[in-house]
Amino acid sequence: MSHTIDHLGIAVKSLEHARKFYEQLGLTIASEEVVPHEKVKVAMITLGESRIELLEATSADSVVAKFLEKRGEGLHHVAIQVPDLAHAVETLKANGTRLISEEIKVGAGGHRYVFVHPSSTGGVLLELVEEQKHL
Ligand code: ZN
Repeated sequence: MSHTIDHLGIAVKSLEHARKFYEQLGLTIASEEVVPHEKVKVAMITLGESRIELLEATSADSVVAKFLEKRGEGLHHVAIQVPDLAHAVETLKANGTRLISEEIKVGAGGHRYVFVHPSSTGGVLLELVEEQKHL
């Protein structure tokens, strides 16, 4: 499998409000769940091979709450799939790339991910997601 865009993360004030916009285009929310360690509620909208991830803060000290405060609603991050996340992280670290956290985390839907700091990616918060092996 090749690298693809896994999803686009969009910070919104209200999932309830945002999902209505996408639903009127005939898109459906594939899943909705709270990710406690990120203090966000996440709604995933399937778009072909890719997805849109709507993010609502569940707490005022959530990263998404701070983003909304500073910049308002909008594109928060871009997520790309890599075949081997541990290998990608090792390579980036060896090359001095700034990661948001050193550890690989587990997020919505059980996917493994890390965030790369915008200072290393041309100004975009980049999420690397390990390609899920479908059995
Ligand atoms: Zn994401």
